[in-house]
Amino acid sequence: MIEVKNLRKAYGENVVLEDISFTVGRSEKVVLVGPSGGGKSTLLRCLNRLEDDYSGSVLFEGASVSGAAKEELRKLRQKMGVVFQQFNLFPNMSVLENIMFAPVKLKIDNQIDAKKHGLELLDQVGLAEKADAYPQSLSGGQQQRVAIARALAMRPEVMLFDEPTSALDPEMVGEVLSVMEKLAKEGMTMIIVTHEMSFARDVADKVMFMDKGRIADVGTSEYIFHESTNPRTKEFLAKVM
Ligand code: ATP
Ligand code: MG
Repeated sequence: MIEVKNLRKAYGENVVLEDISFTVGRSEKVVLVGPSGGGKSTLLRCLNRLEDDYSGSVLFEGASVSGAAKEELRKLRQKMGVVFQQFNLFPNMSVLENIMFAPVKLKIDNQIDAKKHGLELLDQVGLAEKADAYPQSLSGGQQQRVAIARALAMRPEVMLFDEPTSALDPEMVGEVLSVMEKLAKEGMTMIIVTHEMSFARDVADKVMFMDKGRIADVGTSEYIFHESTNPRTKEFLAKVM
């Protein structure tokens, strides 16, 4: 579904991604782990070209994301939902309006369908009763679940998550992870950057250990967490587990 070939990205002299190649199959869950500054966020942003000016290629179902012109890129981006550490909900809109906004604006749904779908999604993330609430009245965990629902409203084919629980108080991490686990079980294709190692171990079909801009180790979660003899992987895991 996604194919990355020889991706290389530099900021000036600083090469932050090098020799990155991997594929993501439909319904596959790929988890990126690794030390700070290793390039995980940059890689995620290259996938939907929030980050530009890289060499190599990113294909989405055979279509070039890296080479797409504006209109084509817009269409490809619609298929990729993104959820970041910061929820960035629109503060002046209710929860339901936040979720309906993009699909209505981009004419993916009319008002009625967008509302129906929005309410279904809110139910799915356990927030049916918050449809008319405003973001600032919600907890961080609730806001992040709204942000997930908002991304899903576009009916994406893949979901990209960049440390979705890192900004949350510890007691709210679980509710967000369980929404993500449910999505995973339903067959969503997911690429997830996280420091939640037990979540990674449970959900990942493939774990990529990124270090200094490269995929330093990659394999099943069984391999990465139990079998790998790569010294950098072992050192990293010893620190974070
Ligand atoms: P973390 O776990 O802390 O989020 P990360 O693995 O996501 O780290 P990136 O944020 O992708 O790492 O950063 C990779 C490298 O790219 C770092 O050296 C960082 O300083 C550099 N970098 C990231 N964004 C920029 C930017 N806009 N301009 C210049 N350098 C950048
Ligand atoms: Mg990051």
